[in-house]
Amino acid sequence: MSGIWPGDTRCVAVLSFDMDGASAMIHRNPDVQRMPSTLSHGDFGPRVAVPRILELLREHDIAASFYVPGWVAERFPDTVAAVASAGHEVAPHGYMHEPPATLSRDEEAAILDRSSAILEGITGERPLGYRSPSWELSEHSLDLLMERGFVYDSSLMGDDAPYRVPAAGGGELVEIPVHWSLDDAPYFVFNPAVSRTNVPASPAQVYDTWSTAFDELYDRGRCYVLTVHPWIIGRAGRLTMLDRLIRHIREQPGVKFRRSIGLARDVQPDCAAPDKLTQT
Ligand SMILES: [Zn+2]
Repeated sequence: MSGIWPGDTRCVAVLSFDMDGASAMIHRNPDVQRMPSTLSHGDFGPRVAVPRILELLREHDIAASFYVPGWVAERFPDTVAAVASAGHEVAPHGYMHEPPATLSRDEEAAILDRSSAILEGITGERPLGYRSPSWELSEHSLDLLMERGFVYDSSLMGDDAPYRVPAAGGGELVEIPVHWSLDDAPYFVFNPAVSRTNVPASPAQVYDTWSTAFDELYDRGRCYVLTVHPWIIGRAGRLTMLDRLIRHIREQPGVKFRRSIGLARDVQPDCAAPDKLTQT
């Protein structure tokens, strides 16, 4: 048995929910704003799926991290307030899901400030974590986060445990790393309005992929960061699968579920090299 975590912690699991609603669809195809069917496809997430997800997390007594584009928060402020008041982290994810790599530094800064302010206006808490839309940081992103006192980013894929990333202007952020294989979008998205027409995978296949990944990360004593989208994972059959996955993870001794912000704060002093982590 090996791993990077101290004490009886064997593996840390982070459940993260990117509450994109229709924002990413609109960013990819602005005509979607005038397409009620496709809009409703996205709205299903905050409108119907998030309350079910909050119930699931409450049943399992798990605190999670929600990344919310500003436009979605303005459209569904009560949902965002419910997420925050249930003890989950709420952090920015663009305004209309703009990947930073497509923006100038000034545009990116303005969107970061605007989306952070919208979330703080609803939750009463200044967000200190960030996840970039489409996981495409720009060369300026880490600097902009650092200047604003953010603690962590969660957009990079350079490890499977928290690590430090230097900002060009000085200082370091904690990175809570992600990966496409632990994201529901590649498996389940069928959305003709943005030309995504692959046949969705079966929940059983995805359960197999996600639980197998967890088992290896658990054996290696690393960090399991799952990224799902309410408008995708909330559809019938998939939340049942997520519930089954959470049960599987919880059955293993020494697993701790953490919000990204709590994990990032705890590892911040020691995560220069993940193998030297001394705190959870
Ligand atoms: Zn997103």
